[in-house]
Amino acid sequence: MTLDARGDLVALFRAIVDIESVSGNERELADQIERELRGCAHLSVLRDGDTVIARTALGRPERVVIAGHLDTVPLAGNLPSWREGDLIYGRGSCDMKGGVAVMLAAAVALEAPSSDLTWIFYDHEEVESAANSLTRIAATRPELLAGDFAVLMEPTSARVEGGCQGTLRFSVTTTGRAAHSARAWMGHNAIHDATDVLARLAAHVPEQPEVDGLRYHEGLNAVAIEGGIAGNVIPDRCTITVNYRFAPHRSVEEAQQYCREVLDGYELTFTDAAAGARPGLDRPAAAAFLAAVGGEPSAKFGWTDVARFSALGIPAVNFGPGDPSKAHADDEFCPVSDLVTCHDAVLRWLS
Ligand SMILES: [Zn+2]
Repeated sequence: MTLDARGDLVALFRAIVDIESVSGNERELADQIERELRGCAHLSVLRDGDTVIARTALGRPERVVIAGHLDTVPLAGNLPSWREGDLIYGRGSCDMKGGVAVMLAAAVALEAPSSDLTWIFYDHEEVESAANSLTRIAATRPELLAGDFAVLMEPTSARVEGGCQGTLRFSVTTTGRAAHSARAWMGHNAIHDATDVLARLAAHVPEQPEVDGLRYHEGLNAVAIEGGIAGNVIPDRCTITVNYRFAPHRSVEEAQQYCREVLDGYELTFTDAAAGARPGLDRPAAAAFLAAVGGEPSAKFGWTDVARFSALGIPAVNFGPGDPSKAHADDEFCPVSDLVTCHDAVLRWLS
């Protein structure tokens, strides 16, 4: 399978899908993308592991970063690709080789773009965050990720999804005094004390803040509860695990403070957290992007790699072909119409 970035877009897409690249096995696809990009006089290309980065250096006032991952989740008997009407099926067709095909075709075609461009084709996204090559590059060569605005071409059904919500988890433990349940008055029931914590969470009305023009929807929920020793013992401990999904106007620290206020009087033990990302749709590069893409942008509720760019001070949006609800499904597919819409929008925006 040989890629031809200047040929037919659908043929390019299917060739990319047909080069199997389950996480850890991105080399061949990275090699072929690197070869196509090195054939372009307007791009300087570098390779870092199985990540390929191609940049223009035209002295434009703004730099736009467009990124997509090369890897897929494991196969499920769904390669090579096949076509049914307008839909191309196969592992990676939705998440996210349609975006990769659009990126490669546009990187090669845009010889004199209106903004300087950084194209990032990266590896190890579908695995733990520590293995993600963006984690490594952000730590070792952050200048390669620098820009004024970033687009992550993950599947969004060719709509703009801005930023992403942050997430954190914590536990609250109520403590009592163990006793035989036949003499309950000699103990103190920690599970009963958890009622107050649960009542506050149940009564809490999640905020729906507007951030940079997009409406987010937060959530503060108990997601696990643990307590009790035996059927005849008054429990002396009860631990409630809580997940807070927060809009990107709050930092992780501000989100933690918010939780402390809701559960004032309790000690919260924070276990993990990931910052959200502001959509940054008020930036000049973003305005030009929205004008070229059209449609109404919406907020992204889950966490995505746009937050990595946000952490570097770069506002970022998700925009790519494929229905996000089909990502990782055995019957994942990408409509050809999404592919064409995204390709045309990127060229219209950056020409
Ligand atoms: Zn993905």
